[in-house]
Amino acid sequence: MTIQWFPGHMTKARRQIEEKLKLIDVVIELLDARIPLSSRNPMVDEILKGKPRLVLLNKNDLADPQVTAEWVKYFADQGLPALPIDAANGTHVKEILPRVKQLWAHKIESQLRKGINPRAVRALIVGIPNVGKSTLINQLAGKKIAATGDKPGVTKGQQWIKVGTEMDLLDTPGILWPKFEDQMVGMRLAATGAIKEELLHLDEIALFVVKYMVQHYGAGIQERFAIQELPEDMENIHEVIKVMEAIGRKRGAIVSGGKVDLDKASLIIIRELRAGKMGRISLEKP
Ligand code: GDP
Repeated sequence: MTIQWFPGHMTKARRQIEEKLKLIDVVIELLDARIPLSSRNPMVDEILKGKPRLVLLNKNDLADPQVTAEWVKYFADQGLPALPIDAANGTHVKEILPRVKQLWAHKIESQLRKGINPRAVRALIVGIPNVGKSTLINQLAGKKIAATGDKPGVTKGQQWIKVGTEMDLLDTPGILWPKFEDQMVGMRLAATGAIKEELLHLDEIALFVVKYMVQHYGAGIQERFAIQELPEDMENIHEVIKVMEAIGRKRGAIVSGGKVDLDKASLIIIRELRAGKMGRISLEKP
């Protein structure tokens, strides 16, 4: 479910996160590895107010590993540890606990020095809708508990999930809104499925995807769709449309008269991208 974000919803979402922050030690900020900045809330630093934070680059199974490595460095340069994961398959999920503990180690040490038995570190997962928060909570819990669905207006009683004996995780994530005012950000969010395509035209999203693919993953797209020659000037929309037509023809998206059905071709391109069928593709670079 996609939330229609109005200023009132944003205020409410923010207030709900601020309530949760009072209970926790460390924030786990979940981003989409394919579009880390575009899947990031524009006010996140302000909202999280200096809480120790671990960045997780989720859906890394769909992202370009080389670009993800650049993003890890990008965040490290800003003093934010970042870990690529794939919550759906559980890849690298086991590395989250040691990373969270590292961020809280100074507190544990100071408690030990005072002779206090350190308690489990308390963590909260935050992120925009569809980034994989519920999937990750379920992985960490080792069972299906988190309700999928984004209802920033609904408050449930807070429950703690034990992740081993050393971490307690809030069972409901903090839901943040994306930076959708920027048109390019909107394109990336729509292309990856973070926002509903009804909000944008399908062909516009597909044009964006094809242009990006030709510019950054030319050989892959050429091979997959058996395109003879890729155009050089992808700033020329007619050239981009020609590539889309070639893809449509290859996939049999033809209407009567032998013309390519561009709507159908658009849908095919977006579906194949999201399913990872075009390979591991990142749509944003640091
Ligand atoms: P939430 O709205 O942030 O709680 O997101 P969900 O946990 O409901 O996940 C949204 C969609 O992304 C679901 O279809 C998940 O199966 C999918 N998903 C979550 N994590 C991953 C991942 O690491 N890789 C892939 N390929 N899909 C994922």
